[in-house]
Amino acid sequence: MKNYDALVIGAGISGIQTALDLAEQGFKVLMIDKKKSTGGVMIQLSKVFPTLDCASCITTPKMSEASNHPNIETWTLSEVTSISENNGSYVVNILKHPRYVDLVKCTGCGICEEVCPVIVEDEYNEYYGIRKAVGVPFGTAIPQKAVLEPEYCIFCGACAKKCPTQAIEYDQEPENIEVKVKAVIVATGFEQTPIKEEYGGGRYKNVINALTMERLLAPTSPFGGVFRPGDGKNPYSIAYIQCAGSRDASIGVPYCSRVCCMFAVKQAMLLCGAAPLADITIYYMDIRAFGKRYEEFFQEAREMGINFVKGKVAKIEELENGNLKLRVEVQEEEDYGVKEIEHELVVLSSGMLPAWKPEKVREILPLEIHKYGFIKSLQPHVNPSQTNLDGIFVSGTAMAPMDIVDSIYSGSTAAMKAALYIKKIKE
Ligand SMILES: Cc1cc2nc3c(=O)[nH]c(=O)nc-3n(C[C@H](O)[C@H](O)[C@H](O)COP(=O)(O)OP(=O)(O)OC[C@H]3O[C@@H](n4cnc5c(N)ncnc54)[C@H](O)[C@@H]3O)c2cc1C
Repeated sequence: MKNYDALVIGAGISGIQTALDLAEQGFKVLMIDKKKSTGGVMIQLSKVFPTLDCASCITTPKMSEASNHPNIETWTLSEVTSISENNGSYVVNILKHPRYVDLVKCTGCGICEEVCPVIVEDEYNEYYGIRKAVGVPFGTAIPQKAVLEPEYCIFCGACAKKCPTQAIEYDQEPENIEVKVKAVIVATGFEQTPIKEEYGGGRYKNVINALTMERLLAPTSPFGGVFRPGDGKNPYSIAYIQCAGSRDASIGVPYCSRVCCMFAVKQAMLLCGAAPLADITIYYMDIRAFGKRYEEFFQEAREMGINFVKGKVAKIEELENGNLKLRVEVQEEEDYGVKEIEHELVVLSSGMLPAWKPEKVREILPLEIHKYGFIKSLQPHVNPSQTNLDGIFVSGTAMAPMDIVDSIYSGSTAAMKAALYIKKIKE
């Protein structure tokens, strides 16, 4: 059984930061992620508020540094199936799903993708782009190695025949690997709230969530501009609905997801460049500009001509031409009452839910879970990364909704607390 000082579960920006900070102190780290690449949600983003720096220009160097660090081993397509305490350490079982490609032999040349005849929807581009059943998941993916997906593959053999290094291995099996670690850091992040029924429940083609808009706006986008998914037209009137999955007890998410106001403001600003002829309206309850320079960022957006309307959108109706009729309770001082307003494209500022579901977490560890499903800090004010279990720490949005800055802070905090713990039990 292989020994590591720490296991980091989840290789988003927070988990990567934890892994790097531990590795820099000389600790041996195993970092795993269930997806094909590291980077979490941040690697899908366009630019980041409030600086409008390119998201992937910040994320990719960190992903690369972690994957090349001599003290970090990274396993993708991997999930924890059990954790048990053993004399102050933890024995962890990890299920490594097959990649059907030999990681050592694959050079990421892309020939398998060129010859593969099967086209599938691309999850990196939120299912709007296309890719092949085998290939490197996306341009900045780490590892830069192909993955073959058996659920789509027709086993025609084209990729195996053309692969210059014979890296395709159709007969790979899942592996169950047992490792021993001294500390575990849970950095499993978040997922977006689903689209609620009042907003079409995901059936209206021109109602998208904000992560889809990130992909349309991203410098790494394959689409070459912003379009309506329903008919490919350029939208001339775009509406943002704030709190579309937060502060809403009816869907079990009464809390604020913290980042949605700022990402809507950011996207609206980027749209002023990407779709200069479009009118952009943000329907909001109140704007929560909580971080450093966030209020100024919001004020800049107002000055740019983005239309902010205080009001709650109760319902969306899809019209025959694909436009959307919004039923809005407008609460502006000079303009009050229920109105019906038409837009060509609607973007929902969805909220944050924990990605690792409480029932799954509980199958593996007796961790205390907050009533909204996030992993509970034992002492949120003085020791936020500490869970109720010795040696188990939490970082990033696995703990609560937060932005990138706080996810990185909390990643470093968890690393420091884990380092102190590991040193103590080593003595
Ligand atoms: C549309 C949108 C725009 C945004 N824009 C900004 C912005 O401009 N600026 C900003 O500061 N913030 C922004 N955010 C918020 C930002 O995305 C998050 O703060 C950040 O990604 C959180 O990082 P994380 O590492 O905690 O989680 P994640 O990015 O979710 O990473 C978690 C990782 O854990 C993995 N994982 C999950 N469960 C398991 C499991 N059981 N086993 C193994 N691995 C697992 C996931 O695959 C993932 O790779 C935006 C969010 C959205 C939705």
